[in-house]
Amino acid sequence: MSKPFVYITRKISNDVVKGLEEHFTVEMWQEEEEVVPRDVLLNKANQAHAILSMLTDSIDEELLAQSTNLKIVANMAVGYDNIDVNAARRHQVIVTNTPDVLTDTTADLTFALLMATARRLPEAVDYIKGDLWKSWSPYMLAGSDIHHKTLGIVGLGSIGQAVAKRATGFDMNVIYYNRSRKEDVESQLGVQYTSFEELLKQSDFVVCMTPLTPETEGLFNKETFHKMKDTAIFINSSRGGVVNEDDLYHALKQGHIKAAGLDVFRNEPIGADHPLLSLNEVVALPHIGSSSIETRSEMMKLAARNIKKVLNGDDAVTPI
Ligand code: NAP
Repeated sequence: MSKPFVYITRKISNDVVKGLEEHFTVEMWQEEEEVVPRDVLLNKANQAHAILSMLTDSIDEELLAQSTNLKIVANMAVGYDNIDVNAARRHQVIVTNTPDVLTDTTADLTFALLMATARRLPEAVDYIKGDLWKSWSPYMLAGSDIHHKTLGIVGLGSIGQAVAKRATGFDMNVIYYNRSRKEDVESQLGVQYTSFEELLKQSDFVVCMTPLTPETEGLFNKETFHKMKDTAIFINSSRGGVVNEDDLYHALKQGHIKAAGLDVFRNEPIGADHPLLSLNEVVALPHIGSSSIETRSEMMKLAARNIKKVLNGDDAVTPI
């Protein structure tokens, strides 16, 4: 009997590939930077028993319906808004993600983005490299304090909680809004539950850490930005789709909020002509939340473990 076929949609670590090759026939899209073309993905998925996918691959009804051998889609991300999970269920395909292994790394980046935005670090770097530093002045590149301010976290899941932990080291007052209230976490981390409205009103920093779902799509829009303090700083390292980017642009332009730190965008990758990039008040990153060498390796290994388990007839390690 021929070995099950595993298709990997982006170039990943040789060690992980070798580990899969001990058990399966493995093929991989060889590009590191380039998304696998749709026709190639459909063709490979049609033969595959497992796909190790990235958040840039659309795993939809069309793909799932034609992939009759497919047993598992192992997404190398904790978010899975690129996968039609209901369609996968209908076609009896198991979907897995990579939770936990990226929590601390993404929280580190989220807090770094908060700090960089508040203290205007990219502007300061450009200033010195642009040879603009000619003297000292009282308000030169003056930013906003972080310590003792109120941080409002929307979506107090694994990463949201890890961000809260970091904030306590800065003596921040942490409030949160979440779909379900988490009283155990409140006492453990000293965070306080508020309504979404109250959080918008009270927070000096609003950090979004929800998944992208029909409920969270466009959650941050004209109405929500207008409810925030005009000194508020908005940080998003969840998914770009939770923000109405036109509304964010206007909120910043018109001074309804002070600044924004964004790791994610609605249609990635964005070009340098994206309107938000024209604003000094925006610190933008190219979706690098979980991007440390250690964590990316752990994510690859976990996705591969899920594939091995499912193709061997066992339960997945991290099913959705
Ligand atoms: P998680 O543990 O599942 O946490 C998500 C939290 O959001 C949960 O507490 C959930 O509430 C809450 N939530 C869901 N829908 C909500 C809604 N409509 N209103 C309010 N709260 C809601 O996931 P995580 O590991 O923390 O990751 C969160 C998201 O971050 C991922 O889905 C992904 O999109 C994004 N992410 C981005 C990067 C990056 O590179 N920038 C890296 C990793 C993750 P319940 O407790 O009620 O379910």
